Amino acid sequence: MSATLINFAYLVASVLFILGLKGLTHPRTAVRGNLLGALGMLLAIVATLVDQRILSGEYILLGVVVGALVGMVLAVKIPLTSMPELVAVFNGLGGGASALVAGAALIEAQAPSYQFTAATAASGIIGAVTFWGSIVAFLKLMEVLKGLVRFPGQQFCNGVLVLGSVGLGAWLVLGEPDAFWAMVGVASLLGLLLVLPIGGADMPVVIALLNSCSGLAAAATGFVLDNNVLIVAGSLVGASGLILTQIMCRAMNRSLGNVFFGGVGAEVASGTSDDEVYAGKIKSTSAEEVALLFDTARRVVVVPGYGMAVAQAQHAVRDLANLLEERGVEVEYAIHPVAGRMPGHMNVLLAEAEVPYDKLVEMDRINPTFQQTDVALIIGANDVVNPLARDADSGPIAGMPILDVDNARTVVVIKRSLSPGFAGLPNPLFAAENALMFFGSAKEAVLDLVAAVKESG
Ligand code: NDP
Repeated sequence: MSATLINFAYLVASVLFILGLKGLTHPRTAVRGNLLGALGMLLAIVATLVDQRILSGEYILLGVVVGALVGMVLAVKIPLTSMPELVAVFNGLGGGASALVAGAALIEAQAPSYQFTAATAASGIIGAVTFWGSIVAFLKLMEVLKGLVRFPGQQFCNGVLVLGSVGLGAWLVLGEPDAFWAMVGVASLLGLLLVLPIGGADMPVVIALLNSCSGLAAAATGFVLDNNVLIVAGSLVGASGLILTQIMCRAMNRSLGNVFFGGVGAEVASGTSDDEVYAGKIKSTSAEEVALLFDTARRVVVVPGYGMAVAQAQHAVRDLANLLEERGVEVEYAIHPVAGRMPGHMNVLLAEAEVPYDKLVEMDRINPTFQQTDVALIIGANDVVNPLARDADSGPIAGMPILDVDNARTVVVIKRSLSPGFAGLPNPLFAAENALMFFGSAKEAVLDLVAAVKESG
């Protein structure tokens, strides 16, 4: 097929990617956006396969079949709560593949140009950092790797590795192809060391940045292969990942430098052991007691978190909200930007349960309203309502803006135990004067609440 036709197909695919991304900006258009993106990818793959530069199709076809099967199984099997782990793997594989493809192209290249070797170096460095950084992120999200690995002089060491990989990259550009694999080795170590010291509430920022890096590596490989659609798609992933990184940083009140080099500790700030925080101060409650609170309430704010996602309690939550609204109670949902385990996690779940979008209120807008709220109903959220974020000077969530639920008249917390959230910290909110613990799994607890509210009149 002629190069013009291939490039035209790439252009259409790129437009579909952009329309797909636009669709993803709103829950109502997200499914269509996803389909448009997938269609663009199909077109890009088909165009590449019929391109005359492809000499033999069997291995590619095998790869497509195996890849599609693995992708389908993962899409069906992976629960929404494990999405960050999956995204971390995708990012890593994207980065790794980019580096390997660039390396393979280098082996085949006869008299490579400066543009070619510079793009190969960029792809090798970014791809290797992304691959190993993502592996560490994946293990941390799986909680296989616990704690933050820090040692004296770590930042100096990282600086040396940055200089080392860039130096070897420069050597490659100057005509030494063997420098490529040494460069990839040094960049791999850099990827490991950059992500090992990060954890807790900073993980969403890391994942967003690695996502962006996987796109940049792909774009660089696009220059290596002289493939326009790879350049466009990689740049789109790179740019949108950077925008998401910025949004996440703002949500966490952190700068990117602070996340990577600030050394925000994992250690629990002194004086915050479980016993000191909870001993003798926990008041548990029952569905009947909470139903009584609802009887006199005029405004209830639901605060969903990771536990609601695990328990798949969103439909029961919507039923409870409908019931309260029928009785004239105003109900809104407080959405923290990092609640759950992926950006927009709560929005997706509540949209699936057909909760109207205008009831979902972002943190900055809902915080001033907690003072006029009778009941803040926390459902499986923990870190995003932990006052330690406000009060502690150090620790994995120090400085992160939280939902100020403690300003509500009564706080009811639904969770199974006093176990900590993702950041591993005790939560002084549970011991607050105005807090009641309703112990139970979120779905059963909310269903009990629905029954108790119905019974109460
Ligand atoms: P947390 O992880 O802080 O807490 C969740 C709580 O849910 C736990 O304390 C747990 O307590 C409870 N829980 C678990 N299962 C159930 C269940 N079946 N029923 C009821 N409760 C349950 O969640 P948050 O949403 O408050 O905070 C999100 C955290 O995840 C933040 O630290 C954020 O930085 C991090 N993160 C966010 C990402 C994102 O993009 N949104 C990505 C990666 C990390 P118990 O066991 O006692 O029930």
